[in-house]
Amino acid sequence: MNHLDQLIQALSRLPGIGKKSAARMAYHLLRSDREYIRQLGELIIDLPERIVRCGVCGNYSEGETCGICRDPRRDSRLICVVEQPQDVAVLETSHEFQGYYHVLHGVLAPLDGVGPSDLNLQSLISRIGSGNVEELIIATNPTVEGDTTALYIKKLVEHLGVKVSRLALGLPVGGDLEYADRLTLARSLKGRTSL
Ligand SMILES: [Zn+2]
Repeated sequence: MNHLDQLIQALSRLPGIGKKSAARMAYHLLRSDREYIRQLGELIIDLPERIVRCGVCGNYSEGETCGICRDPRRDSRLICVVEQPQDVAVLETSHEFQGYYHVLHGVLAPLDGVGPSDLNLQSLISRIGSGNVEELIIATNPTVEGDTTALYIKKLVEHLGVKVSRLALGLPVGGDLEYADRLTLARSLKGRTSL
């Protein structure tokens, strides 16, 4: 396979990019100036070193601790538990949530071999144990796996004396948090139900 075909194949592995779009991108790059191509390449190459997981919440971060965890003005009594780092970004756009986050990096999916030890759960327990956390808001997606994970976390933290609630109202069942609009998210946060 020649270099151009290899590039097209590599690009088509990106989410939402089919063979046709990948080819369009590759041909566009061929026509682009070298400086742009170099910069794009470097940004991609440096990604794993520059962006690491926050040691506190697991969100993507440019330093050991992310900007949200470093912000002392937030409400330390609240932790919102989400599946993926992009969910943090989505919830932040609603400007409704003032607490901190915890990113699981997945959900329980026994059929796919994803168990509790594959998720960022251990550090959640230590966070609850060491801080003044009063409520966990589970904002996993409204799917079977998201619900299973929410119930698992509730059982896991039951003895720690924190309230556990679930972001549900207004979110489409089987939907993805990523695609919810700002207003829906704001309403989901206000109308969260106790688990
Ligand atoms: Zn963090």
